[in-house]
Amino acid sequence: MSNNKVPQYDNDQVEKLASHIKAIIELLGEDPNREGLIKTPQRAAKALIDNTSGYATDGGQLIKQALFTHSGDQMVIVKDIEFYSLCEHHILPFFGTISIGYIPDGEIVGLSKLARVVESQARRLQVQERLTGDICDIVNNNIKNKGVIVVCEAAHMCMKMRGIEKQETTTVTIEYCGGFKDIAMQQQFFNLIKLKKQ
Ligand SMILES: [Zn+2]
Repeated sequence: MSNNKVPQYDNDQVEKLASHIKAIIELLGEDPNREGLIKTPQRAAKALIDNTSGYATDGGQLIKQALFTHSGDQMVIVKDIEFYSLCEHHILPFFGTISIGYIPDGEIVGLSKLARVVESQARRLQVQERLTGDICDIVNNNIKNKGVIVVCEAAHMCMKMRGIEKQETTTVTIEYCGGFKDIAMQQQFFNLIKLKKQ
């Protein structure tokens, strides 16, 4: 997901993280002073800060900045929003796509805000179940609606690289409320998110 702003780092935070990462490199039996690793602690520190930058963003505020009145009440879907997150159990990436649907009740949100809500919740230490549920709650609590549904499909590096090494496994999680408790509404949502990419 694009983030056009050049990140501003807190140097104190970078250096503290870097000192711990250097210690980890040593504990793994590597030489942190060899050429390829000499700047790794700082680079890895900045990567960790980037990948957890969602803590600084309030998803509800993102939505409130871009609400518009709307008289229609047909389903709105933003599908296949790419995300990258860190599993809180192993601090290894999990990544995939999220599709969000909601039924407006007097207002709609600028569509890019939904992608930014996904990013704000993904860039943290997470589990996929909570990521899915939190996005559903944020949309439900900040847009007047008659129903919200969120589906997340992801691959977990902690499953692919270690442990059971199930290379092709993906995990699907779903959360919904309001009108999406109705099976026919869910079916309509699933039919629409299956549509071919343009
Ligand atoms: Zn994990």
